[in-house]
Amino acid sequence: MSETPPKRESKNFVEQSIDADLQSGRFQSVNTRFPPEPNGYLHIGHAKSICLNFGLAKTYNGTCNLRFDDTNPVKEETEYVDAIMKDIKWLGFEWDSLHYASDYFEDLYQWAEQLIQSGDAYVCDLSAEEMREYRGSLTESGRNSPDRDRSPEENLDLFRRMRAGEFPDGSRSLRAKIDMASPNINFRDPVMYRILRASHHRTGDTWCIYPTYDWTHGQSDSLENISFSICTLEFENHRPLYDWFCQKLGIHHPRQIEFAKLKLSSLVVGKRFMLRLVKEGHVSGWDDPRMPTLSGYRRRGYTPESIRNFCSDVGVAKFNSTIDMVRLENSVREHLNKIAPRRMAVLDPVKLTITNWPEGQVEIMEAVNNPEDPEIGKREIPFSGNLLIERGDFREEAPRKFFRLKKGGAVRLRAGYIVDCYDVIKDEDGKVTEILCTYDPETRSGADKSGRKVKGTIHWVSANHAKEMTVRLYDRLFTVEDPGSTEEGKTYLDYLNPNSLTTVTAYAEPSLQSHEIGDRIQLERIGYFVLDPDSQAESIVLNRIVPLRDTWGKMEAKGKTV
Ligand code: ATP
Ligand code: MG
Repeated sequence: MSETPPKRESKNFVEQSIDADLQSGRFQSVNTRFPPEPNGYLHIGHAKSICLNFGLAKTYNGTCNLRFDDTNPVKEETEYVDAIMKDIKWLGFEWDSLHYASDYFEDLYQWAEQLIQSGDAYVCDLSAEEMREYRGSLTESGRNSPDRDRSPEENLDLFRRMRAGEFPDGSRSLRAKIDMASPNINFRDPVMYRILRASHHRTGDTWCIYPTYDWTHGQSDSLENISFSICTLEFENHRPLYDWFCQKLGIHHPRQIEFAKLKLSSLVVGKRFMLRLVKEGHVSGWDDPRMPTLSGYRRRGYTPESIRNFCSDVGVAKFNSTIDMVRLENSVREHLNKIAPRRMAVLDPVKLTITNWPEGQVEIMEAVNNPEDPEIGKREIPFSGNLLIERGDFREEAPRKFFRLKKGGAVRLRAGYIVDCYDVIKDEDGKVTEILCTYDPETRSGADKSGRKVKGTIHWVSANHAKEMTVRLYDRLFTVEDPGSTEEGKTYLDYLNPNSLTTVTAYAEPSLQSHEIGDRIQLERIGYFVLDPDSQAESIVLNRIVPLRDTWGKMEAKGKTV
């Protein structure tokens, strides 16, 4: 009997390119790296790059390094380095080795001297503004710097004096000598070093010249023996330069492959955008549960699995497009449905009194923790004659299709009994303050002998047993699909959702008390929640991870997004 071969999903273009290079013998192994700049926290876009780089290493039995691309001392901080490492581990990945571009400053410096000596680099005295002017434009070729023909000896002397700190910031730079008429602007004598007196988070004040991204990246890849240097599309035009440097230096030459950045609807993810949200106090910090950062998602209760599944689901693309946020949320729901124990809590309570319930009696009901996972067993819930239900689950008068509780109607209380409503008590304003019901002792869940069928089931808690807790209901931070590109004169800050956080007091079944910070649960019929680190023994704080269904999409369809 012949076995059917396992179904092989077709390979993406990055894998195809890797396969070709392995087959041709250009590379013998797959060595990748994830190269964040430590100038902010990682966001969902970075997750895509992390999953791709670490994922390829795993698929091909290769390696993936973590390298901090720390060449811009002004914006970089150790706080970010630590946060990035924590987030990558949380996502479920381990780097083979850890590096910092700043570890290569001396190698880069020596290589720069090599290019000066071979006549491929020169010290230029143009100011930043003059340099821009000399560079030309997309339609106009650039002009040679007056310093372009300095001799290697003079260049070497000046470059050493740049390093020694003899010249003021910005007064000189080292440039590669390539082609001021190239149609690719990156080829028009790109800057390799700038003079900058700024303390670096690792090298302190050792250096007053710093290498640029272009001069650093390829050589760092090369030093680490990377075979595939995967980056995003905006670096496609830098690839010829990447190749030029490796070739001129005659060093190990990795292949740069570009893919499209992940862009999600209703988010801004760029670090500088997010930094402003944090600095101006629009959110409580980088880990605010409304932030698209990995630390925000962690606090929000998203699982690493659901983010990884989402990234693999979205795939690797060659062209930019926007992915609907709903896909990420669905991935979160799908995973939580499998793992989150069910609990009951009432967020907007109204009293329900069972008038034929024996005075003072408490019955212990049983309910499965998760119908998707029988292994995690059952929990006990106290039931009594004084209950709380959601105000929204009751109507004095209701249309025929309203299957929750109405006056003169019946409903099943989840894991409890069927109750019949015969009257209500109201305050002076006509607001219902108490719902009066009777219960049918024959209808106990799991032991129903009545044969009665009712259409609706609602959740409840026993008023005297319920635990009060704070619930934070999070919603989208922005009200528009693309907060990053908005009308003239407006910025993403004009589209902040004023209702992105609502805090309510809820009443929950006692078993919630036994949970720990970080535990995720489903509040039945409401959504998924996580115990926030702000929780204390007697005052639990729950964050809403995601509602049970995609209400946002539905509201949007009706034109009611805010
Ligand atoms: P940002 O300013 O949004 O943080 P960045 O590209 O400047 O983006 P880096 O720290 O330089 O951030 O990025 C580290 C790696 O993550 C790079 O390889 C980069 O291409 C990749 N990356 C960044 N944003 C995305 C994204 N939205 N989708 C996929 N990969 C991304
Ligand atoms: Mg960057």
